[in-house]
Formats: sequence, structure tokens, C-alpha cells
Amino acid sequence: MLDGNDSQIFYSLGRLRDIVVEATKPLVFWVGAGASKWSGYPSWYEVASQLHSLFAKRESRYDRATGSQLIGKDLPEVFTRCRSANSALYYQLLADSFLPRKDTPIYRSFLDALSSNDPLYILTTNVDEALEQHLPNTTIVQRTDFERCVSLIQRGQSFVCKLHGSISMVQSMVFATEDYAELTRDNTYLSLLKHIFAETTVVFIGYGLKDEYVIRALRAIEAQTRIFGNGPHFLITGSAPADLPGSTMPIKYLLDARNDHRSAINVLNVIRECRKDNSFAMPKGDEIKGVAEVTSGYFISDFTPPGTWTSSQTLGIGRDDGSQFCAIVGHGFVRQELPTPVTPSPQDFLVGLLCFDRVYLPLNALAPLHDFIGGEFFWELVASDGLQFIHVPKEPACIYEAADSLIGDLGLVGAASEIRRIRSPQEEIRRQITFVPGREAEAEQLVRDLEARVLTFDGESWNVPQLARGALLHPSVRRLIGMSEGVRPTTIPRWLVFPALRVAHVVSTAMLCQQFNLAAAKVWFGGEMLVGAIFGLAAARDWAHEAASYVVAGQADIDIGAMFNVSSLKAILKFRDTQEGVALRKEALEQLRVNAGTEFISSVNAGLKRNISFPSLDKSRRVLSALLAAEAPRSGLTLGIWHNPYYSDASISLWRKRCREELHSLCAERHIGIYDQCPCGSGEKFKFCCHAALN
Ligand SMILES: [Zn+2]
Repeated sequence: MLDGNDSQIFYSLGRLRDIVVEATKPLVFWVGAGASKWSGYPSWYEVASQLHSLFAKRESRYDRATGSQLIGKDLPEVFTRCRSANSALYYQLLADSFLPRKDTPIYRSFLDALSSNDPLYILTTNVDEALEQHLPNTTIVQRTDFERCVSLIQRGQSFVCKLHGSISMVQSMVFATEDYAELTRDNTYLSLLKHIFAETTVVFIGYGLKDEYVIRALRAIEAQTRIFGNGPHFLITGSAPADLPGSTMPIKYLLDARNDHRSAINVLNVIRECRKDNSFAMPKGDEIKGVAEVTSGYFISDFTPPGTWTSSQTLGIGRDDGSQFCAIVGHGFVRQELPTPVTPSPQDFLVGLLCFDRVYLPLNALAPLHDFIGGEFFWELVASDGLQFIHVPKEPACIYEAADSLIGDLGLVGAASEIRRIRSPQEEIRRQITFVPGREAEAEQLVRDLEARVLTFDGESWNVPQLARGALLHPSVRRLIGMSEGVRPTTIPRWLVFPALRVAHVVSTAMLCQQFNLAAAKVWFGGEMLVGAIFGLAAARDWAHEAASYVVAGQADIDIGAMFNVSSLKAILKFRDTQEGVALRKEALEQLRVNAGTEFISSVNAGLKRNISFPSLDKSRRVLSALLAAEAPRSGLTLGIWHNPYYSDASISLWRKRCREELHSLCAERHIGIYDQCPCGSGEKFKFCCHAALN
């Protein structure tokens, strides 16, 4: 995710967006070792360490002690020592380190994002040939003919320029001290860089130690000859960069749990989004084999049985100093924003039971579920390990200084059991369940069993508000919810409070799935469009609910939620233990579209890569039919009508419609005219700011 807390990033992305949209300068990508690392290649430091230990073992002319001292201090010098000890072995080992590697999903998603730039100009310090392999129609420029890059840019032809050589020309590779010295004396090299930095905008991605070293060397000679031009150039970075050329603006992303810097690719997606003229389409996803590390769990982010609603609350909260602030929590859906009044929750629950090993619900859905499916079945399900709850002690909120403030910020607010104390899972359970008089001891035991199964999602340590602000930096997310480019992600205007909260809920759900390794999550109407925009996840082709509907009713588009009654639930619980039930869940897990190249690896709304095979659906159907017949006469089923995934487009335009109405009535109330300053505080005229964004 982009770092939504970094104040610089809003300006940096804005400048980058202007350059892309107005096409004032061509973009040139400077691809560093971080990118090759996504493909499995070693970093500069790792190569140096490997050479050092192999030379120490195999080459008596190599001074081990000096080498050890140089590692971590002066890497080029390690390469120098190795080469002078035995140049044949040196080149051999280097060539071996950079042999072609197998494709990885994350490298593919990097290339996919990069390739949306056409023409595509790349400078790289990487000597491996991963880029060349994957971009077959691109001109490769070697060190011997650097000048060509200039004419290629003038003619608009894509190229990959190997600044530091490549393994197919081993002598050209730049690793040792003398190689660097030679480069910085090389006038062709210097004039190429000078030209590129003057005439284009350079975007550094995968910036590694090696790039840092060469940029530092170039800065050292900048006093004699100006190299970096006026910029702006951009450095996509995970940490506060030191000593950048003045014309370079950092764009900071957050390291995720995997620590592999994949969030950097996000910025390439931002560039892609900027190029797309106001249209939004989900990028194509990659299919990967083997999702073994993921649990077959299905998290239903909002469980709302018929008759209930997922609404919002406004809380007045006191601070220590006695002042008050106001927090809005919840999704805040109103009927006019939903394409259908039918709740998908009963259907979601059955889909979860049929297609997943375990259904996960937020702990605050305990009482609604308990009431909806009945106590007996509820406890049976808990005992069978098919159901688990996730306690979310603090949920996303939008905080406003006063009840009538126009501008707020995202935060987290917890349900308090008493002043200043967040409710524990135990309290949350006991708040929702009341014991039948006379059976307290029995109930006590059940509740204890349940408590042992509650997981706690810690939105605070994931820093959900920061991640949500990062999501709000994406042009495609802004376009979806109608947020003007002038609005900073730390200033949420009142009329956008619910779309912003829904973004935060989606981010929170994604992080929850990461924390517990869940394969799939169900999000509310419109949520999957947000997921697509925030995480670049592809839309699935088929859906688990179609498979479940076929197994239950012999037809793929039935609202199976209608058969929600105790006897059918019991039949389904028995079915889960049959061979066919197990096989169905296994196949569903295999078919889940788990896009390992993105930051969020879960499938949204149980989208599958392709249909579960007909024979296993049919076998399951026969077994379940027999069980249903034994339990009770089949309840009447109605043809499916809500079919959630395909309503997404409609949902989001309904959100925007509501926000537009709120904005306009607010402007009428406060007498803000179309040419007055926008109430979002951007300083722009209303007509060209939030008014335009929502129209
Ligand atoms: Zn505005």
C-alpha cells in the first residue's frame, strides 16, 4: 500500500499524475535490483557475499580476512578483490548467479503494470536478463551503443538499456570499483544520462544498494557537470531516502507482511490508472497453481439477516482534556444505494458451509446469526468446527472535530464496555447472549468453548487508517467514489464519509484475511469494485455461489438463502462430512482465484478461476438431495435475483448519486455557489473540484 500518512506523497503523486495525463515529458523507468529480486535473483549484497565465501573456499590468492571486512562496507571492492584473484572464476560465478529463473506471480504482475506504458523506456542496472526475456519485442541497448536510446525515445520505440551490462556480455558487467570509476569517466554514459534526466521524467523502481551507489557516484561529479536536470523525477521507495538529487521526489509505500516490497508495484498501477481516461476496468489477473498455504475459510464481512440493516452510528466521544469529538462508524448504507433490498447473507452463509472448510463471521454478528439459525443448530455448528468468529475490537471511523465540521479524518474507534476500555471478546459474547434461567451452568460451558475459538483482528497494528488513506491515493478509487483530486486522503469531506468508510472497511477486511490466511472474503455491494481498484485484483469468471446453488437446487442461479431452515442446515452439516462434501470443498479451494502477485491474496466474494467440474457437482448434488429428503421435504426455492457480483457497477453509481445529493443540499444550506471556493478546502473553485468529481 502507498503510505497515506506521508504528507509528501500527495504532492508527489499529483505531480506524477500531471506529467502522465498531460504527457509533458516521456516517462523513463529506472529498474533496479529490487525488481529482479521479485524474480528470485540475489541482491547486490547477496552476490558479493556468495562470491566472497566461494572465493574464500576455492581460491588461495583471495584474502579471506580482508574480504570479510569489506562485506557491508565496500561491496565494489569485494568484487575487485575476487576478480584480481581469479578472473575466470569471477566471471563464471557471476554468470551462474544470473542464469534465467522461473517466473513468479509477483514478477508477472510487475511486468503487467510496467507494460501498460507504450512505448516503454527502461534503464536498468540489473545484469540478469529477466526484462529482455519477458519483453520480446523491445530493443535491447547494450553498453556499446548507449547513444541509441536518444533516437529511440525520439522515434517512440520501446527499449531496455543495460546500464551495467548483462550476463550475455560478461566483460561489460559493472560490479567492481574500477568498473564504476570507468563508468563515471565514460562520456557516452554521462551524456546519455544527462540527456535522459533533462528531457524525460525518470521513475526509479526497485531501487537497490547498487543504484544508490551509482547515483552517489554521479552526484559526486555533478559539481562539474549537471546531470540530473530539473525533473521532476520520482523514486518509489519503502524507506526515507537519503541524499537524493534535488529534482527527485520520493513516493513512499509501506512494507507489507511479506517484506518483499511488492507495494512498489502499486505506483505503476497508479500510472496505468492515470493513463486511462476516466474509465475503470479491472486489470487482468494471473492464475497460479497451488494455494496450499491458504486456509479454506470464508469470511463474511457483514452478516445481515433479513430485516436487519448495515447502517451507521454517530458517536460523541470525550477526550481526556474534556473536549469532545464526533465519530461516524459503520458502512452507512441506505436503501437507495443498494441495487436490491434482498440481503445476500443467508445465501452467503450456505455457500460458506458448502464450499469452504470454515465460515468466519465478525463477532458482532453472533447474536443475529444465533437468532437466525436457532440455538440448537448454532451450537452444533460451533462444535463441528465449521464456524468461527473474529473479534474486531476497533472499527474504522471518520472523526470530525464537531458535529457540523465539514472535514474529518479516518481513524479507529472501539466499542467501549466502560469509559476508555475496549470490549474483550468475552464481554462481547456475553453482551449478545443471555442465558436461559435454570440452564446457566450448561450455557456457561458452551460460551467458554466459543470463547476459545474467537480470533482477534488487531486493526491498530495493521494501521488500517494509514492503509485506507493509501488506498484513497489511487486515482481509480477516487474516480469510483467521486473524490476530487484536490482532496487529501487526510481530509475526508462530510459528503464522502461513507464511501471513505467503505474503502477503510475493504482494507480492514483484506488485512484480516492476511492475518488469518483466509482464502476468500465476502464484501458488500460495490465492495468488489473497490477491492479491484485498491489491490488490482481481477474479477473472477465463476462464483462459488453458482456451484453451491447447483448442488442444492440443480440450477446455478437460485437464491439458496430461501432454503435457510433448520432441517436443510442439518442436512448440509451431514453433507460436509461425506466424501463428496470434502471433495467439493477441496475443488473450490483449488479454483479460487488467489492472485499471489498482489498485496491482497484472498479471493473476493468467492470468485473462482473456473467452474467446479460437473461430475463433482453432480455427485455432490445427489448426496445432498438424499440427505435433504431424509431431513425434511424440500422447501420451495425462488429463482436467484440478487446475484451480487454483477451489481457492482450499479452500486457504485448509486453511492455517488447519494453523495452528490448530500453535497448539493449542503451547498444550498451554506449558500455556496458554483464559482465559490469548494467546501472541501482544496482552494479550487467548487465547479472544478468536488462538483466535477461527483458529476
Ligand atoms: Zn473540493
